[in-house]
Amino acid sequence: MPAPIGVLALQGDFREHRQTLAAIDVDSIEVRTLGDLSKCAGLIIPGGESTVMQKLAVAYDLFDPLHDALKAGLPTFGTCAGLIVLADEIIDGIAGQAGFGGLDVSVRRNAFGNQLDSFEVDLEFKGVTGPAVHAAFIRAPIVERIGEGVEILSKLSDGRVVGVRQNNLMGISFHPEVTGETRIHELFVSMVRGI
Ligand code: GLN
Repeated sequence: MPAPIGVLALQGDFREHRQTLAAIDVDSIEVRTLGDLSKCAGLIIPGGESTVMQKLAVAYDLFDPLHDALKAGLPTFGTCAGLIVLADEIIDGIAGQAGFGGLDVSVRRNAFGNQLDSFEVDLEFKGVTGPAVHAAFIRAPIVERIGEGVEILSKLSDGRVVGVRQNNLMGISFHPEVTGETRIHELFVSMVRGI
């Protein structure tokens, strides 16, 4: 049996990610310790609140190990707050905010402001075939700078970037796990299994 996918379960909507993985018959475990992390073939970092996730990762002694694991090549998929903590630069973070890093992008937190802080839209997504991806944005970030070697996977109709991949790291601004969309998780699982 292949090693499970870990879902970082410090905070946020990790349960919905596990349900999405279960819906495509992929085993998952919740990751809260270094021991959990060492069992995973890949990692999902859920949406939630990036500042709280950072504090809890420090409190659970996971901050540096996560930074190191991402750098060492652990396939990792971040959604929303998960994208923020993967980014090398966070714009509009709180004082002292830092992520695990590894993805050579700059991400702006809460990029849609208060007026439009939640919305749903259909998107094209590279590697996903069939009908458009139905995406829920909830106080979502936007990718504002793309480093060399970062591939754009998805954009809004106005051109703003909402999905990227660089080697082992994939990050998206939205939440496929709350709209019943399973194809981006399938894409990530293929990335993990090297298919
Ligand atoms: N605005 C949140 C943050 O800064 C992200 C919101 C989300 O994950 N839905 O972490």
